[in-house]
Amino acid sequence: MTRRPRPEGELSSVLRRLDGAPYGRYKSLTGRWSGAGHVLEIVRAQADPFAPPARLALHLTSEAAGFPPELWLTPLRRRALASFLARRAAAEAGDGSGVLVDAGGQEVLERASCRIAGPDEADPGSVTLRLNAPLPGPRRRVDGRAAEELLCRRLPRLAELSLRHKALDPAALRRFIETVEDSCALREALPGLGLVAFVADGAVLPRRSGVDDRAATGPGVIPFRSPEELRVNVELPHAGRVSGMGVPEGVTLIVGGGFHGKSTLLRALESGIHDHVPGDGRELAVSRPDTVKVRAEDGRRIERVDLHAFVDHLPTGQDTSDFRTDNASGSTSQAASIVEAVEAGARVLLIDEDTAATNLMIRDARMQALVAKEREPLTPFVDLVRSLHRDHGVSTVLVMGGSGDYMEVADRVVMMDGYRPRDVTARARELAAVPTGRKAEADAFPAPVHRRPDPASVDGVVRGRVRVSARGTDALVFGEHTVDLRAVEQLADSRQVVGVGHALALLVRDGHLDGSRTLAAALDLLDGQLAQGVGPLLSVRDEDFAVPRRFEVAAALNRLRTLAVGR
Ligand code: ADP
Ligand code: MG
Repeated sequence: MTRRPRPEGELSSVLRRLDGAPYGRYKSLTGRWSGAGHVLEIVRAQADPFAPPARLALHLTSEAAGFPPELWLTPLRRRALASFLARRAAAEAGDGSGVLVDAGGQEVLERASCRIAGPDEADPGSVTLRLNAPLPGPRRRVDGRAAEELLCRRLPRLAELSLRHKALDPAALRRFIETVEDSCALREALPGLGLVAFVADGAVLPRRSGVDDRAATGPGVIPFRSPEELRVNVELPHAGRVSGMGVPEGVTLIVGGGFHGKSTLLRALESGIHDHVPGDGRELAVSRPDTVKVRAEDGRRIERVDLHAFVDHLPTGQDTSDFRTDNASGSTSQAASIVEAVEAGARVLLIDEDTAATNLMIRDARMQALVAKEREPLTPFVDLVRSLHRDHGVSTVLVMGGSGDYMEVADRVVMMDGYRPRDVTARARELAAVPTGRKAEADAFPAPVHRRPDPASVDGVVRGRVRVSARGTDALVFGEHTVDLRAVEQLADSRQVVGVGHALALLVRDGHLDGSRTLAAALDLLDGQLAQGVGPLLSVRDEDFAVPRRFEVAAALNRLRTLAVGR
């Protein structure tokens, strides 16, 4: 590996020599080639013209890249700088040559595609861009000239225009880094303020469309404005004093008529775990990093989860404290997702009535009167949500426009009214004081039973190699298995799904899952690795991915149909 790079001039002559040779000869180029101010690394050549494109990397020394240390001294700035460079490179590469740089969407994630070396590494401030490009091969032969054009001219030009400080717009770069830094500072300030989320005045929450995640535009868009009662001021390093709505710890209910912006607000909180690019509209809409959206998902698998708080006395006589099914119902699937989120360490749960199982959420007085408790296996969430906070420190933000029963258990009630939030807590308290005849069916949410996954049941290896791929954000292909992730809604993009797959492989490869360690403890070890950036996941395989959170890794594991656990 540490072989000195060969000069790029030599690459040109080798390519000319290979012109017309069988396509497989591209493999002989694997290795490092030094050009003017950069090193080109051919990580993996393509086996044939129809295989996935070749994996390449461009390395620039800190001197060649020329970024002043203030732009990369902290991990956060390195992430922001790398994201900015990847976006620049992706734009530069988008010229029909087939060169692909994974820059991601509205979220600024740690990605394999671009990396800045930190102060503890060799050559701090040096830059690596990883990319994919198809090696030209008409009639399954090496096209020496076209390959030379790609590798010796186009890619050096890409490095020149997108990875050097002097080629970039300094104001845009500064704004990008400052935006990410402010967003992180805001997120870090939440616990000290007793908040689970914050949405700044002026934030734009609606998106352009279901398939376009950029901010909605036009005269109809109503910028966010906090109600007076919930307004909080925060001092940020760059934006200075910012005001907005603080969502307090505890139980927060979002009510309002249909189409008034309830789900849009909740989705902003879902996405608030990520930092967003300047212009996104949600730059200062943040939530705690341990916020997990849960929903109903019938058909999913459940492996030995303790559901007895929600489900008991099934007509089948099945033991719900050790519940297993290959085909969960809406209510049991959502109950399992809540228990699993708490097991994995979530401190905030987000639930939207649009995607929740009604019979798990509510059971009103009339239904209680008609169907005796002994005949109803379900205990609704409304009777457990308070205990979740009181006994376990887990807050809930819930969208519920269709039932008033939650008014009794909510600490705060926010009403969305024509996209404008209003604090209606006082009125909701008055209404809650009028008895409905409804009786609480439970008052304690039990501590989660920690499960110990069997590593042999988490197998991503096919023919000796880890195999991971993504189908959008809908599914992860892990080894021979397909994991349905449609209900795991906080995944940012398909590359983060690949990151989840790598993380699963790492949990097994590095022995974090050993059959006796609990899932939560294994996730703690994984978190230690993910905090180091892309390195540990890159060691699984050098391909495009974004670093995931522990919660999405746990969610994928819980949906892996082969998973087996001890307890
Ligand atoms: P609800 O959940 O209350 O039924 P939604 O959040 O789904 O409502 O919003 C309904 C529609 O209004 C969506 O198309 C959404 O994009 C749009 N919308 C949401 N918030 C705003 C806003 N602040 N300005 C303009 N349109 C918005
Ligand atoms: Mg809705």
